[in-house]
Amino acid sequence: MKQDTDMRARLPNPPPDSIRKDQHPVQVTPPGLKPWDRTLSFSDINVFEDCELAYQKRKNRERKAPREIHQIIGDLTHHGAAAGDKESREADLQKQLDRLPQDARVEAERVVRELLDVDDELDEAGGEVQEQQKDKLLLRCQGPNPNWELVAKPDETGMVDGGRGRPVLQLLDKKTAFVLKKKNKDQVFFAGMVAQIGRALSHDGPVKLVVRLLRSGQEHVFWYSRQATERNMFRIASVIRRIEAAVETGEFKASTGHNCLRCPYRHNCKAFAQWTEARDRMVVEAQVVPIRELEQPFAV
Ligand code: SF4
Repeated sequence: MKQDTDMRARLPNPPPDSIRKDQHPVQVTPPGLKPWDRTLSFSDINVFEDCELAYQKRKNRERKAPREIHQIIGDLTHHGAAAGDKESREADLQKQLDRLPQDARVEAERVVRELLDVDDELDEAGGEVQEQQKDKLLLRCQGPNPNWELVAKPDETGMVDGGRGRPVLQLLDKKTAFVLKKKNKDQVFFAGMVAQIGRALSHDGPVKLVVRLLRSGQEHVFWYSRQATERNMFRIASVIRRIEAAVETGEFKASTGHNCLRCPYRHNCKAFAQWTEARDRMVVEAQVVPIRELEQPFAV
């Protein structure tokens, strides 16, 4: 008897290719919330730890505030640095710059061009990454909980010669920053862990991590150590448990504070509005109290 090799063809409603599991991992539909995928990136973890409500808004793809000029400069630089060739980069850059108001455009163009020149120089100085693999790949691996997938997308993923013909997987992250921050290092280490567990580019050897700082023209090089995996997974497992508890109850706690000032959802957040109101009231009261005190007779 002829074997039916296509299992999906036997299902009453075969899922279209666009929603196959390998493209959109397991989905969960918590009560009263939009469905989201169970993937966890470095940014997801940070957003959740900063404010659960912001994580919920992020995963529900709520409308974000318009990008500020320093963010637009970062976007344009990353876009330009990822372009395949200088001609398409130039055309794309002009198209993006045309969308900016004239006064912001001049400054943005100057900064972006400077940063892209630094990137080109560092690329030429390095020059050892195999071009066909120098790409912005989505790296994936299974998380500490089998229903969850960890994902990372460094700016470049490629194979380099680690000396004496030894192949090394290199992940490169580009930052429009002057000095290396802890979160830049943590982010590239997270990507290193995902690449190492998920055997990115079918590589099972050493993973080299590079953070390129475009404002200072410096590169910081690290090596991913397998020993760090257990500790990292422990922290990730705890975040996943907290996310699942929030999904179960539908309660994502708002954490107001200075983190709100860089939150892209603050324009549409009741908790932020209440926090701002209370803060403004305190400022007003702080100005009033000393005046009242001055009106009191001195205690003897
Ligand atoms: S504005 Fe503040 S409280 Fe509101 S979602 Fe953002 S970080 Fe959370």
